Amino acid sequence: MRLYSTNNKDNIVDLKEAVLSAFPKDRGLYLPTEIPVLPSAFLDQLNQYSFSELSFMVAQNLIGDDLPEDLLYQLVTRAINFPAPLIKLTNQLSVLELFHGPTMAFKDFGARFMAELMSYFLKDEDRETTILVATSGDTGGAVAAGFYDVPGINVIILYPGSKVSALQEKQLTTWGKNITAIKVAGVFDDCQAMVKSAFLDKQLLEKFSFSSANSINIARLLPQSFYYFEAYKQLGCSDDITFCVPSGNFGNLSAGILAKKMGLPIKGFIAATNENKVVPEYLTLGKYLPHPSHQTLSNAMDVGNPSNFPRMLDLYRGIDESSTWNNLKSVLRGYAVTDQLTIDTIKASRDNYNYIIDPHTAVGLYAASQVEQQKTTAQLVVLGTAHPGKFAQVMNQAIGPIKLPSRLEAFLEKEGTAEEIDKDYKSFRELLLSM
Ligand SMILES: *Cc1c(COP(=O)(O)O)cnc(C)c1O
Repeated sequence: MRLYSTNNKDNIVDLKEAVLSAFPKDRGLYLPTEIPVLPSAFLDQLNQYSFSELSFMVAQNLIGDDLPEDLLYQLVTRAINFPAPLIKLTNQLSVLELFHGPTMAFKDFGARFMAELMSYFLKDEDRETTILVATSGDTGGAVAAGFYDVPGINVIILYPGSKVSALQEKQLTTWGKNITAIKVAGVFDDCQAMVKSAFLDKQLLEKFSFSSANSINIARLLPQSFYYFEAYKQLGCSDDITFCVPSGNFGNLSAGILAKKMGLPIKGFIAATNENKVVPEYLTLGKYLPHPSHQTLSNAMDVGNPSNFPRMLDLYRGIDESSTWNNLKSVLRGYAVTDQLTIDTIKASRDNYNYIIDPHTAVGLYAASQVEQQKTTAQLVVLGTAHPGKFAQVMNQAIGPIKLPSRLEAFLEKEGTAEEIDKDYKSFRELLLSM
């Protein structure tokens, strides 16, 4: 796979460079120069394949030239080793549960695949690589789980001390071995700023070889296209599926667009957001107006300037701004959902379907309920992005206490350790130099 920067079509790199550097120096985002279309025979035979087999075939279509077939097969089957079941709520509405991985959020797909791919690309390098990641909660846990005990790679996670939940903190601090957690006396933006400064710090660069695992890494996007095929398979290959995607940085939705460009007959997408609604606003107004993020109950989607938005624009680029807008509008609708409606939807889902959903999936389910289905054969699939047990406080507020699954319970019982630092860059730098 060759990739270009969304800021400069002539800046072309190979997959290894894109994965290890995460973003181009011109601050654009990497996208494939070509998205090969899968043979229609593959789609016709999809129900013969397991999820990990079909994931391998989609991966092969995308990056089959970048690594030997047997290694790619092993890599995909190690990374995609948990299911994505489709739960039918009605004849036309279902939830694709993407939270059966180690940290019980869909970010496990991207993080595990990226860990595998990075360790493949780094296996012949004699330097250890240090991955720096700033997290507001969920990403760090999935990245830690993905890279845990991977040889040659150390992970340093910075998180805002007072802003993460008790469970999230345990998912960051209880690993040990090659995973170091740093608790910062500040907010997410402070953590992010420190990571950015470290990447440019000459003295640190003499000691460390840094890489980034943030959500714009193309290695996180690619595997997120696999489960759109899995949903299509489980729905008996209907060609009238609309996917409703609870969105923050729009990585999940961008991966759906990749699946569509690979030939999966997806009818359209719904961008479901909380009150951080720049993309729904763009779809209505034709203007993109990023803003600082507001805090909501679906906090993993509190993003005021979605990092994947330039990718979406590029994937539907027209001859001018208004044609790009029209192209996007032809496949994408947007709905913004308030916290009150999120709570109401968690309750309604329990009452109407006897199905318990987390606040992010609830944003998706409410948005889906606003769509009029023209045909009785039309299917709506809401992506279930996290297990409700991850958001015990909000769930409690909506429907009372819920039982934690044993996988999450196990985290709570472990003892965590974190380095603690102030929010100034100097403290972070000194800590890194002393490691
Ligand atoms: C990250 C996250 C989202 C948003 O996904 P994007 O790809 O950033 O749009 C939604 N729900 C949950 C639970 C998440 O962790």
